[in-house]
Amino acid sequence: MVEAQQTPYCGKRLVQMHGDRAVLQEPPAFPVQGPDLDALYELPFQRLPHPSYRGKIPGFATIKDSIIVSRGCAGGCTFCGLGFHQGKFLSSRSVDSVLKEIRRLTEAETFRGTVSDLGGPTANLYACENGHVEACRNCHRPSCLWPTICPHFHIDEQAQLDLLRRAREEPGVKHVFVQSGIRMDVALRTPSTSANSSAATCRGT
Ligand code: SF4
Repeated sequence: MVEAQQTPYCGKRLVQMHGDRAVLQEPPAFPVQGPDLDALYELPFQRLPHPSYRGKIPGFATIKDSIIVSRGCAGGCTFCGLGFHQGKFLSSRSVDSVLKEIRRLTEAETFRGTVSDLGGPTANLYACENGHVEACRNCHRPSCLWPTICPHFHIDEQAQLDLLRRAREEPGVKHVFVQSGIRMDVALRTPSTSANSSAATCRGT
C-alpha cells in the first residue's frame, strides 16, 4: 500500500493505528527539478565532515571525491530505501552544473585527479524521465522498470556517457568512475553503453 502511494500528484496520506496512537505517512514531496536542482547542489557546501567529528572517518575517504548527478529512483527494488528517501520521480543536474562542481573539486589540495563516482541512487538513470506525462501523475506502479520497462519511462543512456566524457576532459581530471548502482536491465538495452563504458570512464593509465 505504501509503495502504491509514491506519486506526489496522487499519493494519499496513510494512517495506521498502533494501540491508542497512529503512524502517519504524508504523501511524498514533489521532485526538485531543473535550475532549482542545480542551485541546490551549487550551494557552497564544504565537502567535509561536520567539525563535531574529531577522529578519522573511514567512510569519508570513499565519498570525498564523488559527485551526485541525480536524485530519485524509479526502480522500486524491494531491498532498497532510496526510492522512498528521494522519491520515485527522477531529476538530474545539468551537465554544466556537474562540471562546475568538478572544477571546484579539482581545486582542492587533496584531489589527486580521480573522480571516484559520478552517481546517484542509480547512476545510469541520469537524464532518464518519469513523471513527465499525465499517465505518470496518476500512476500507482511501485516500479517503472519491473516487470517490464514502462512505455512512459524515457531512457537516455547517451546522456550519461556524454556526461562521463565531458567530465574526464576537465583539466586536472585523470579518471572518472561510477561507483553508484547501475540498473542492469537499462544498461543491457544498449550494447553501445557496455562497449563504450570502459573508454568513457578511464583516460590515461
Ligand atoms: S506511468 Fe510508467 S513511467 Fe510513469 S510513473 Fe508509472 S510506471 Fe513510471
